[in-house]
Amino acid sequence: MTDPRVHEDLVATLEEAREFGWGEPADYLRDVQRRDHDALAAAVCTTDGEVVGAGQHDRTFALQSVSKAFTYAVALQECGLDRVLAFIGVEPSGEAFNELSQLDDGRPFNPLINAGAIMAQGLVPGDTLEEREQLLLERYSALAGDDLQVSEEVLRAEQVRADRNFALAHMLASSGMLTYDPHEVVQGYLRQCSVEVTTGQLAVMGATFASGGRNPVTGERVFEERVVQQTLSVMLTCGMYDASGSWVTQVGLPAKSGVSGAMLGVVPGSLGLATWSPRLDSHGNSIRGVELFRRLSDRWDLHVLRHREPLSQAGDDGATTH
Ligand code: GLN
Repeated sequence: MTDPRVHEDLVATLEEAREFGWGEPADYLRDVQRRDHDALAAAVCTTDGEVVGAGQHDRTFALQSVSKAFTYAVALQECGLDRVLAFIGVEPSGEAFNELSQLDDGRPFNPLINAGAIMAQGLVPGDTLEEREQLLLERYSALAGDDLQVSEEVLRAEQVRADRNFALAHMLASSGMLTYDPHEVVQGYLRQCSVEVTTGQLAVMGATFASGGRNPVTGERVFEERVVQQTLSVMLTCGMYDASGSWVTQVGLPAKSGVSGAMLGVVPGSLGLATWSPRLDSHGNSIRGVELFRRLSDRWDLHVLRHREPLSQAGDDGATTH
């Protein structure tokens, strides 16, 4: 059984974060999220498979860019690290998520901005768009331990303003990087962005990463450990777009955000943490989500780079080793 303080801490932290009520939800999702502007939810899943939620943790929202981490992992699992690295870099871009940017050799900077995510979608194996989507939905569902589906309503909103994503796909096609039709690749990308989850399901997806690729609730191995290590590495350095540097210094977790207001963080060996709150900052990250993560990282001592004494020396008060 999870310590009851986990739930108490989540509830208390949600109340603290509620005060950060400024910012606007993504304007093109306004119709879809009409009732939800002030929604606030958080859930944790431990590597023991225990799920604890607070706030509106049973409500669904679209993964949006959080899906980029999952599709990257599927591409790595299916194609191998070398092939994926030949098409997608692992460098922070320092630019907005939808920037038309490429490294000198034509590769997108990393898989967690739109250019790289569209490229990752273009590496998913399958003869048709349907086959590729089937594979992705299967893997996403295995990560969550639940049957996940595309929201047709979110998808329609995505399709209405997809020009930028088409531009990115054509940019990649013109560099000879895409093997599939760029329009199909964008359709696949928009569909993966429109997959709906609850914070509870998203926390389980994170806990599967925290468990090295084995779902702690179902016991199913979804990804190899090396795939997860690679994915978490780019989440740590690139997951929060052009706010990734301050994120690592302040929160210190591999994470990914999406314009629906979703956020996922992973503490390897320990837990997945998911939050949802639609009001966004200028980078496209959830304002309350960032606050929740900042506070929970402090409260639960989650920063993965903080110095900790080896267990054998616990109790020593200095920095010297013996
Ligand atoms: N569907 C959105 C887009 O492609 C996802 C972006 C995001 O979540 N930051 O623009």
